[in-house]
Amino acid sequence: PGTELYAPDRRNSRGFDLRHRPTLEEIDAARTPFADSLWEAGPLVAADTGAPADRAPAQEVVSPATGAPVGHIASASPTDIANALSAATPWDAPAADRAEVLKRAADLYEENFGEIFALLAREAGKTLPDAVAELREAVDFLRYYANGASDDRPAAGRFLCISPWNFPLAIFTGQISAALAAGNAVIAKPAEQTPLIAHLGVSLMLKAGVPATALQLLPGDGASVGAALTASDRIDGVAFTGSTETAKRIRASMAEHMAPGAPLIAETGGLNAMIVDSTALPEQAVQAIVESAFQSAGQRCSALRCLYVQDDIADDFLKMLKGAMDALRPGDPWALSSDLGPVIDADARTGILDHVAKAEMDGRLVHRIPVPNEGHFVGPCIVSIPGIAALEREIFGPVLHVVRFKASEIDAVIEAVNATGYGLTFGLQTRIDDRVQHVTEAIEAGNVYVNRNQIGAIVGSQPFGGEGLSGTGPKAGGPFYLTRFKAPLERD
Ligand code: GLU
Repeated sequence: PGTELYAPDRRNSRGFDLRHRPTLEEIDAARTPFADSLWEAGPLVAADTGAPADRAPAQEVVSPATGAPVGHIASASPTDIANALSAATPWDAPAADRAEVLKRAADLYEENFGEIFALLAREAGKTLPDAVAELREAVDFLRYYANGASDDRPAAGRFLCISPWNFPLAIFTGQISAALAAGNAVIAKPAEQTPLIAHLGVSLMLKAGVPATALQLLPGDGASVGAALTASDRIDGVAFTGSTETAKRIRASMAEHMAPGAPLIAETGGLNAMIVDSTALPEQAVQAIVESAFQSAGQRCSALRCLYVQDDIADDFLKMLKGAMDALRPGDPWALSSDLGPVIDADARTGILDHVAKAEMDGRLVHRIPVPNEGHFVGPCIVSIPGIAALEREIFGPVLHVVRFKASEIDAVIEAVNATGYGLTFGLQTRIDDRVQHVTEAIEAGNVYVNRNQIGAIVGSQPFGGEGLSGTGPKAGGPFYLTRFKAPLERD
């Protein structure tokens, strides 16, 4: 009865309670009109005078779960890029006005939840719980950075925001809203896999009152649109979330073409580990592992990749873990009964399956659960490895690597995890207080979680970001993030 979906006086969005049947029915009713919609989208460039002659025909976007069409996207052409760069004008409205507009955008996001959930399921393969979390995080970013808007220092100028497909609304909106809150002009280059959600997000921000010259969208691939923008001397700073390799390429290009002080804010990959010792509460650890490794089909930078389990408990523990995995229901993310959806595209699936096939050939595939044959599904699995050093790269999917360790080896485990050079998330399951103290001090990771899962950082209370190969900081959703979107401080 009269579900109060959002409490505007709270700092974080309340999201939706999916255990509440009327809420589920309300969501289903709101997204159903978009079950077969086809979205048509393309560049959003200020003072658009129609498609330039060099813009290529729009390409079809299809669902990673079913292959069914979702719409069409036109990529930005060289003329679009040039037009956007010359139109981009830092947002010079007072901070309080910028904040008000961003908060209005947050409200519009919440009002449009039906279309957003439909697109997240159909374009990005997100299950409903993932879509709910994603919308909530996007809204939290808008309000959090709006609250932090200030005019204490000038903005950097023109900020380029390059966002990933795994959080096509939340991280996309987070980068943009931070840059706008600081007073920049933004040029957004969304992941080529998820341009339609990006287009919807920008449309809502423009509708809320962000000036068209302060927010422009240039869809396209990294090799053409991304590379052209990161090689432009008219860009004053870049926010990027994606692979460590791409971040290095962006940094090199910025060094060549941009002012020496131009900031790069990069959130990159991880080789995230968890330690489960023999005192851990098994039910809690199993649940935390299933969520951390397999939620979002393992397509989070924060996801658990390498589980260290103490050998005294390993046999029983892995049996429980396999049982919990067998209860997962992979399937079309539109269905309310699906626990996990597909991976994003055919290339992603092939890369993950190659890795699993090698493990299987070596007799190291411990467990795998079946998935639908259509679409880009990958069966969640466990692969045994001798140690985290055996992982040459981040496997961005539902593959959990498991290592057994002896009680006496815990410091060697920490050393091995630190030696990867990555440092994004880390999990610890133990009931020894001294160990919590010792391990959390010794481990080099941006986000360390004890006796819970290691995904799903919360804007404002759990700022998210790594160190080393995992990113530059400052953490997203934290108090220092906005400062990097300002002009570099002058030094004497
Ligand atoms: N913020 C997300 C989380 O805590 C991860 C972000 C990412 O995967 O890029 O799970």
